[in-house]
Amino acid sequence: SARPAAGRDVPRVLSIAGSDPSGGAGIQADLKSIAAHGGYGMAAITALTAQNTRGVAAVHLPPASFLASQLDAISDDITIDAVKIGMLGDAGVIATVRTWLEKVRPAVMVLDPVMVATSGDRLLQESAEAALRDLLPLAHLITPNLAELAMLVGEEPQDSWAGALEQGRKLADATGATVLVKGGHLSGAQCPDALVNTAGLLRAEVIEVPGERVATRNSHGTGCSLSSAMATVQARLGDWEAALREVKPWLAGALGDSARLEVGTGNGPVHH
Ligand code: PLP
Repeated sequence: SARPAAGRDVPRVLSIAGSDPSGGAGIQADLKSIAAHGGYGMAAITALTAQNTRGVAAVHLPPASFLASQLDAISDDITIDAVKIGMLGDAGVIATVRTWLEKVRPAVMVLDPVMVATSGDRLLQESAEAALRDLLPLAHLITPNLAELAMLVGEEPQDSWAGALEQGRKLADATGATVLVKGGHLSGAQCPDALVNTAGLLRAEVIEVPGERVATRNSHGTGCSLSSAMATVQARLGDWEAALREVKPWLAGALGDSARLEVGTGNGPVHH
C-alpha cells in the first residue's frame, strides 16, 4: 500500500526498552532514530542502566507493575502504530510486556532480542532466555545480531553468511515471524542484511540487501537504532523490504558520520 492510512503520516512509535544515560543505545537511541525517520517517538522504560561507552556499571529494574502502569497510560490514550521492543531484563518484565501486547496487538511489532551488550555485560538474566524465546512468535520482525541468532536457535554463532542465513531460516520457521539477519558482526569487507520469512509473507523466502562494512569503532547503539528505524518506516510504508532498503543506507551513513562525534573513550555511539 503506497498511500499511508490517515494518521500514519507521522507514525506513533513506542519503544519498550532500557535507558542508556550516556545517550548511545537503548531508548535514547530509539527516540533519535524514530525522529530521524519522521515518527513520533514514545518510550516505556523497562530498565535503568548506569553505563557509558566503556560498559554497563549497574542495572536497576523498576517493579514490573510500574512498567504495566506506563504501558497502560500510553495505550489508554494514544493509538500506537508500531512498537519496538529492546532490553527486557528479566522474566517478570517479559510477562508484563506479553500481557500488554496480547491486549493491544500493535499493527507493527519489532523485537530486538537484546541479551548481552557489545561490552559483554548481560542485559537479560540468563533465567529469562526461555521466556524471551516464547515471546518471539508475537513479533512481526525479529532483529537478532549473529550471537543472539545462534543462541535463539541453540547453535554455535556463525561467521559465514550462508551459515547465518540458515539459522535465520530456522528462527523464522520456529516463530512464523520475519527475521532480519544482520551481517554487522561478520568479519570481512561485506556487510549484507537479509529478511527471511518461511511463511510466504515476503516475495521470496530470503531477500538480501548487500552493503559494505563501515570501518568505525563508534557502533554503540547500532542495533537499537536499526530496529527502531524499521518499526517507524514499516508503519509508514507497510513493506519490510522497502523499509530495509530505506533504513540500511541511512544506517551506513550514520556509522560513517560517527567519526564526527567525540563522545567517551570506549566504543562510541553511532551518530544520527
Ligand atoms: N544498553 C541498552 C539499554 C541496550 O538496549 C543495549 C542494546 O540493545 C545496549 C546497551 C548495548 O548496546 P551495544 O551492544 O550497541 O553497545
